[in-house]
Amino acid sequence: MKMRRTKISALLKSTSTGMDVHVKGWVRTKRGNKHVNFIALNDGSTINNIQVVADPNTIPENVLKLVTTGASLAVTGQLVESQGSGQAVEIHAKTIDVLGAADPEKYPLQPKKHSFEFLREIAHLRPRTNTFSAILRMRHAMSFAVHQFFNNKGFNYMHTPIITGSDAEGAGEMFRVTTLDAKNPPLKEDGSVDFSEDFFGKETNLTVSGQLEGELGALALGEIYTFGPTFRAENSNTTRHLAEFWMIEPEMAFYDLEDNMDLAEEFLKYLVQYALDHCADDLAFLEKRLLDEEKNKPANERSAMSLTDKLRFVVENKFERVSYTEAIDILRNSNPNKKKKFQYPIEGWGTDLQSEHERYLVEKHFQKPVILSDYPKEIKAFYMRMNDDNKTVAAMDILFPGIGEIVGGSQREERLDILSARMTEMGIPHEEMDWYLDTRRFGTVPHSGFGLGFERLMIFVTGMGNIRDVIPFPRTPGNAEF
Ligand code: ATP
Ligand code: MN
Repeated sequence: MKMRRTKISALLKSTSTGMDVHVKGWVRTKRGNKHVNFIALNDGSTINNIQVVADPNTIPENVLKLVTTGASLAVTGQLVESQGSGQAVEIHAKTIDVLGAADPEKYPLQPKKHSFEFLREIAHLRPRTNTFSAILRMRHAMSFAVHQFFNNKGFNYMHTPIITGSDAEGAGEMFRVTTLDAKNPPLKEDGSVDFSEDFFGKETNLTVSGQLEGELGALALGEIYTFGPTFRAENSNTTRHLAEFWMIEPEMAFYDLEDNMDLAEEFLKYLVQYALDHCADDLAFLEKRLLDEEKNKPANERSAMSLTDKLRFVVENKFERVSYTEAIDILRNSNPNKKKKFQYPIEGWGTDLQSEHERYLVEKHFQKPVILSDYPKEIKAFYMRMNDDNKTVAAMDILFPGIGEIVGGSQREERLDILSARMTEMGIPHEEMDWYLDTRRFGTVPHSGFGLGFERLMIFVTGMGNIRDVIPFPRTPGNAEF
């Protein structure tokens, strides 16, 4: 009779022993001698391995020879209480089938520390490491929590388009979508490319944000959110930017800026709490990883808090709410500014904040997450609502330790005349945006929304240092492998 496979996560929780079980997975390590072999087997269901004890009297030598790191096995045996420390139960193998061997001379993942740079080059195999399997399970858990949070609140998940015909938001940093022949495109009389002959009959790009279409949904359904891939052709080779990333964008009718901040703060706390509640094993592993990594750093660069301390800290503290104007004052008078330690010195009101400034506010000055609001209109997008001072807009960014901006949002300009004037000022063609302006022409209401970069959240909850290591296959300038 064919035995049913049990997942390793279930076996490790098992309270009874003695029965025969059947598991499948990949060999992490094998050690032992000519009398006994200990195989650490992992099937991805948990960070923890099950120990398979293989006696050469039971398991033929030619089979055991193929049991090497990376090989895949089907094992049948008795589940018994483990004599060794480190695990409660283990399997005493009766049969082992090698499903797929992994030549130890060639298999690149050996049981030693590989650098993250090296692992990025073998991103097709890195999910088989402890670190990346933990990250991928947590990506799943966080995605699920996103949907659960909004579903509990009665928000509608809306699928906004990935191919977009409007470039109002992302001019200059969009990826073109075309089927035209790159070598020989149809030309107009003036020599420019004739996109009317392109697939969609016009210029199209990959979206930089689902917001504008999200607003259309919110102004009908009340509350929506998007959660999809987003593309930015900005040439920023930082540890916090990807060319393809996932963004969550809720958009809510009848919300003002404060309602927006309240929702964003509640949302972030919910996600972090979800990680603490549901990802304990993976978090414990990642916490230890971070600790090991930091041992190699000079003492003053080590973080005072462990990973889970940092997560708890976010859940337990009210985010500091400060206006851009107050923040500029703080930064201007700050020590690093006076001592010229900032790469971009704060000159005065009106300059955009760099990540170094955001991190100073969060990590040094307030020492908790910060919501900055009411930015100068010149450094923000056309759709943000004009404040009464006519100088600032109802924008809000949430800044996190180690990251800087994790959320960007605003109350949207719902007044047709003001929105339209802003568009003219900023050179945004009205014809192209007529569909967007219709929402302000017909039944306009105050509304707000924000965008959370999913990978920035993942950096935070996993304690990883580089955004390339929290997405399965990172896309960055010069790199689109796999
Ligand atoms: P930044 O100033 O950090 O480049 P932004 O102001 O361009 O970000 P928004 O347009 O406000 O970002 O996008 C909303 C959110 O999306 C950001 O708060 C951030 O979490 C995330 N995000 C933006 N750009 C990227 C990127 N290139 N890679 C990953 N996440 C990003
Ligand atoms: Mn932003």
